[in-house]
Amino acid sequence: MLPPQQIPSTQLQHPLLDQLKVEMEVMRLDQVHPTVSGNKYFKLKYNLAEALKQNHKQVLTFGGAYSNHIHATAAAANLEGLQSIGIIRGELLDSLNPTLRYAKEAGMILKGISRELYRNKIQPEFLDQLRQELGEYYLIPEGGTNALAIQGTSEILSSNQSNFSHLATSIGTGGTFSGLANSLLPQQELLGISALKGEAIPEEMKQLLHAHSIQSKGSLSLMTQYHHGGYAKWTAELIEFIHWFWESFGIPLDPIYTGKMAFACWDLLQKKYFKPGSRVLLIHTGGLQGNLGFTQRTGILLPSPLG
Ligand SMILES: *Cc1c(COP(=O)(O)O)cnc(C)c1O
Repeated sequence: MLPPQQIPSTQLQHPLLDQLKVEMEVMRLDQVHPTVSGNKYFKLKYNLAEALKQNHKQVLTFGGAYSNHIHATAAAANLEGLQSIGIIRGELLDSLNPTLRYAKEAGMILKGISRELYRNKIQPEFLDQLRQELGEYYLIPEGGTNALAIQGTSEILSSNQSNFSHLATSIGTGGTFSGLANSLLPQQELLGISALKGEAIPEEMKQLLHAHSIQSKGSLSLMTQYHHGGYAKWTAELIEFIHWFWESFGIPLDPIYTGKMAFACWDLLQKKYFKPGSRVLLIHTGGLQGNLGFTQRTGILLPSPLG
């Protein structure tokens, strides 16, 4: 893969920020790579290097039909000369689905399986069965989180971000949150905004950090009240916010992850969560490819850099 460019960031200009003496900036991981977008670039980087090192010809992973992870894995494997296989939740693969269409064009072999079978995605017997059917492969788990993914997401922050008091990220499986927690500085606070509904998420994050021996030097805050109904669910308020954010700052967001993260940060700003003098970095983890499919299945228009 191409090495990441100097990651661009956009400073937000708004009277409320001036009034509360808070600075906000958006780190544009959505622009980190032309085809492997967002946090997925970092999560895949060492996994694909490992697959090549182990002389694998194929990588196999799991995902939903609109998954950013499927899209990014197809693109990244293609660039590395690896065959990719996507096991997709749901038997019937819609040929008009833009995510799957892209994945297929990038050379991914797509295999739709029933929701029941899909639940076996971590069972060794099922993974062996797939090996017999499709040949030997390097496994990347659903959502892409494993030790090598966290090694990658630990590289998102560098000394360029040492002046921020707060960093905010969306949480799906928590691989990105873990990597950021790993590279946090003592004076920094990491806000993890869950895209999923569930009060157990703070405990799950604690266990994930423990499993990967991560003891953050900074402080970690988990926000579980900004899911807007649950994973891939949305509210009119969220969609309205995404449009407002685009009109105000020229930054496109997605409704699954980054919209909820930015919504949370703006809500916290209004509630004076950030003390005067705070410098807040919103990490835009990408996901914009999903906007096309979202509009296709809901009829709701979203801002898009592609127009
Ligand atoms: C996958 C994804 C996430 C969640 O990342 P995790 O490491 O699974 O927590 C967040 N934002 C976007 C845009 C994603 O595609």
